[in-house]
Amino acid sequence: MSWTATILTLFPDMFPGPLGQSLAGKALDAGSWHCDARDLRPFGLGRHNTVDDTPCGGGAGMVMRPDVVDAALAAVSRDDGAPCVYLTPRGRPLTQADIRRYATGPGVTLLCGRYEGVDERVLEARAIEQVSIGDYVLSGGETAALVLLDACVRLLPGVMGSAESGVEESFSDGLLEYPHYTRPAEWDGRAVPDVLLSGNHAAISRWRREQSERVTRERRPDLWAAHLSNTTRSSVQEG
Ligand code: SAM
Repeated sequence: MSWTATILTLFPDMFPGPLGQSLAGKALDAGSWHCDARDLRPFGLGRHNTVDDTPCGGGAGMVMRPDVVDAALAAVSRDDGAPCVYLTPRGRPLTQADIRRYATGPGVTLLCGRYEGVDERVLEARAIEQVSIGDYVLSGGETAALVLLDACVRLLPGVMGSAESGVEESFSDGLLEYPHYTRPAEWDGRAVPDVLLSGNHAAISRWRREQSERVTRERRPDLWAAHLSNTTRSSVQEG
């Protein structure tokens, strides 16, 4: 069985969406992964298949009912140990380490919220992982699910063109990637750094490492601090 994404959503037609194109689309056509988007609506209650209700305690918006979400999750439940993930701005930040973990397993079940989100009890009862794709609020979990899937699918065996492209990229070693250049050697009065045209592979590696460190330090002090503390910890362990 290929790597499978089971997606619970009120908008199943949003899948595979952009993931039907390019690398992910080719991999989908080749059977390297499978996209199974399921509609939450039929699990809704009454004549209108209602999936939401007003928030206890008052306030704006609607909340997705726990009984409806639970019935839908039970109907799509998998016995292959695939993690179940709820996309929510209240979740812990999604990282490349999570993506690697999801990509190396049998797949994922993704729960996409709408309205004010999902009743907390079903998330607790089913011990669902809660992850956020960033500190901003989307109108629904579907675009967040597409982001998570895109990041996973490109890591599946045979999906990326060159095996190397996954090894040296941003976050692979806790740092952001160095800048890239291509031809022409000079464009708009700006030259490609001499070292990259020198053919000296050791010097190129050194330059790239320095650039990686500089960009991480300047743009992501949080990643830089984590990198420094990991480096210190491993040198203490080695010493
Ligand atoms: N009331 C919620 C809050 O303030 O945390 C926001 C609900 S949002 C309008 C509706 C749905 O979009 C959420 O249930 C979640 O599934 C999804 N969503 C919104 N922002 C997200 C983010 N940054 N990461 C992941 N999912 C997100």
